[in-house]
Amino acid sequence: MSTKAAPLWADQKEGRFFTRIEVTSMLNGAMLALPLHVVTGSAPGPTFGIITNTHGDEFLATIAIRQMINGLDTAKLKGRLVIISVANPMATAGFGRQTPEQHGRTDLHEVYPGNARGNTTQMIAAAITENVLNYVDVLIDFHSGGSGGRLQARVDYNAKTPDDLKQKNLALARAFGAPFVHENEFAGSAAHYLNSRGIPAVNPEVGGSYLGPDSTRHYTEMMVNGLRGMMRHLGMIDGPVKPPQQLHFGLQARKELRPKQSGYLVSYYEHAGDLGRLIKSGTKLGEVIDLYSYNIIEELIAPFDGYLFFSRYSGVVGGGTQAFALAETAASKWLD
Ligand SMILES: [Zn+2]
Repeated sequence: MSTKAAPLWADQKEGRFFTRIEVTSMLNGAMLALPLHVVTGSAPGPTFGIITNTHGDEFLATIAIRQMINGLDTAKLKGRLVIISVANPMATAGFGRQTPEQHGRTDLHEVYPGNARGNTTQMIAAAITENVLNYVDVLIDFHSGGSGGRLQARVDYNAKTPDDLKQKNLALARAFGAPFVHENEFAGSAAHYLNSRGIPAVNPEVGGSYLGPDSTRHYTEMMVNGLRGMMRHLGMIDGPVKPPQQLHFGLQARKELRPKQSGYLVSYYEHAGDLGRLIKSGTKLGEVIDLYSYNIIEELIAPFDGYLFFSRYSGVVGGGTQAFALAETAASKWLD
C-alpha cells in the first residue's frame, strides 16, 4: 500500500468544519458526495470516527449526533470527532437499506475497505476508508432500526479478535451504556476492517425510524448519552465512566423469531420499556393476520426463557422478516 497523504481535515484548528467528499457522478447528473463533519477540540486527544446511515433508512443516529455535537464545547474537548453523517446517500435518497445500483454487492455494511474502481457501493466504502477510517484511533458505525419500526438498544462488537483488542472493543461498547452488549461479527463492515488493523471499533444499534414521539425521545436521549459516555471513556470530555448493569450475549444465545408467512404482525411488545423483559418459554410474542382471509395464520412463540432484545411494532411484514429476538437466559450473563 502506498503512503497515504494526510487527510484534508488534519490541519483543522479548534472548531467545526464541514465539507463534502466527491465519490462519482450519478445518473441524475448530480455528484455523489459524502458529508464530512469535523469537530476539533482545544487540546490534543484521540480521533474518534463516527459513521451513520451505512444503511440508508436508519435516520435516528444522525439526528442524535447532530444534537450531541451542537451541545459540545470545543474548549473542553480533547481530540477530534470525524463524522460521516450519511454514509450511503443513494440508499438514503431511496429510503432504502442498500445502494440502488445494477451490479455487485450493494450493502455498504459488507464491502469495506471498498474499491475505488469497483461498483458504486465499493467506491463509497473506499472514499470513507481513504478519508476517515485510515486515520482514526477509534470508530463507531452507528446503526438504528430502518423503516420497519424496530425497537432495539445494544452495542455489537466483534469478539473474534486478539484478546487485548477484544477488551478494548468491549470497554468501548460498554461505555455507551445501552442495556445490551452483543458479541457479533460483520465481515466486510467498517468496524471489521478497523479491527483487522488493530483499532477498536464497534456498532451501536439503537432505536429506529418512525417510532412515535415517546420512543423517539427515549432513544435519542440514549444515543446522545451513549456518545458522551464513549467520549468520557476515551478521555475526550471530562466525567465519570460508569456503565450500568448490562446483559452480555453472543451469537449462540441469540434467537430470532421470523414469521414464515407474510401478513399483518400484531406485536405484543411495542414499547421501549419492553426490551430487557424476561420472556418465559411458550409465551406468545405476536401473531400474523392474513390480509386476504382475515385469518390468524401464524403465532410467534418463545422457544426458551430469554431476554427480549429486539422487537417490532405491529405492521405489515414479509415472510422471513425478523420480528422478535431473544437472548437465551442460560447462555447470557449480566455484567456489573
Ligand atoms: Zn444498519
